[in-house]
Amino acid sequence: MARTSSRAKATVNYNEETDGIKAKGATMKAASKVKATAAKQINDKRKIGEEEDEDVKVEVLEADEEKKKKRAAKPEPKKRKTKASKEEDASPLAVRTPIPSLEKAMYIGAHVSVQNAVTNAVQIGANSFALFLKSQRKWDNPPLAPDARDGFISGCRHSAYDAAAHALPHGSYLVNLAQADEAKANQAYKAFVDDLARCEELGIKLYNFHPGNTGGDTKKEACGRIAAQLNKSHKATKSVVTVLENMAGGGNVVGSTWEDLRDIIALVEDKSRVGVCIDTCHAFAAGYDLRTPETFEKTVESFNEIVGAKYLKAFHLNDSKAPFESHRDLHANIGTGFLGLRAFHSVMNHDEFRGVPMVLETPIDKKDEKGKTVEDKQVWADEIKLLESLIGMDPESDEFKKLEIELQANGKSERDKIQEQVDKKVAKDAKKGTKGKKKKRAAASDDESD
Ligand SMILES: [Zn+2]
Ligand SMILES: [Zn+2]
Repeated sequence: MARTSSRAKATVNYNEETDGIKAKGATMKAASKVKATAAKQINDKRKIGEEEDEDVKVEVLEADEEKKKKRAAKPEPKKRKTKASKEEDASPLAVRTPIPSLEKAMYIGAHVSVQNAVTNAVQIGANSFALFLKSQRKWDNPPLAPDARDGFISGCRHSAYDAAAHALPHGSYLVNLAQADEAKANQAYKAFVDDLARCEELGIKLYNFHPGNTGGDTKKEACGRIAAQLNKSHKATKSVVTVLENMAGGGNVVGSTWEDLRDIIALVEDKSRVGVCIDTCHAFAAGYDLRTPETFEKTVESFNEIVGAKYLKAFHLNDSKAPFESHRDLHANIGTGFLGLRAFHSVMNHDEFRGVPMVLETPIDKKDEKGKTVEDKQVWADEIKLLESLIGMDPESDEFKKLEIELQANGKSERDKIQEQVDKKVAKDAKKGTKGKKKKRAAASDDESD
């Protein structure tokens, strides 16, 4: 997985940036200064307590189109964000770390909104980013607006983002490529291949999606249907790599074992067009331990043996609010969950993972003064710096131990809460026997989201 090309890009100048963001002077010293305060800032700002882990606000490309239409009909629209307040929203929250200043070329970022994706990525100091290409809750979407396309491409160029390597769009939650029903399968395919076409228009090479749900059929049938849809989509497009995400849920969810992913890939005709994104939270909840250096090695080895290292194309970096093998998909902030900081230290220092996009999907919602839920992107800005600071850090050092303890303390109440739920469920299911087990499986897939 090591990409020598990441070093070749080492000379990029991140200075060509939006106003107020000056990365030119971001020496190692400055970066480590930010790193030192990262944990503290996280401690101060992080507020855990949301059960919901679907933390990404969907903003859609067609909003622009709709706005234009509305503007035409109504010249004096009521309350709309002023230009000034929009600019204020994009004020820098962290200086982007120049990759050459890192001991290992780890491209860490987060999920940004599709409008102003590049500006948002720069704002949080991200070196990679995820985005939606259209509304995730609607089947019908207008085509990609040429303005939006050109803005994205020039934005990437201007801010030295290699969209082909470090942008990782996320597929629609509505799409299930394992769908058996013909009409529904066609609808899913249409939405899927439309996203792939958008990637190609935007110069994006990797496209991440959830493999699907069996709908009650066998895994074998489901994997076959997914692969068939992928083969068809590869023929309809040119270059985009379809990246399967591993899942947390058991039961009918496809992709929670390395074997599921292997079985899909085995049926894909063009192997250069398929890959895997490992979500650390999902892997852990599905029963792949990463907590200690030993379990981390074992999990990586099993992935390499069963799926193959060459298929690993990306990461979703999330801690887990739910315990090991609970099959629950509940993202926690880095270091605060059941995975803990040691797991992320292992990820950040694994040479084979260099060069791939590593995207945070951790919770950033908090309540403002009025009790309204708002996004605090500073959390991601700080988590990016925290993860970068782990590269080359001695895990036996006081610095690391202190961070580890602080972050675990932050997540304790939330971990206890979810542990209690899991324990109750286990006890309940034990009473009910196999009948309960089936129910548990169905319920386990309920929190699946990103
Ligand atoms: Zn998830
Ligand atoms: Zn994910």
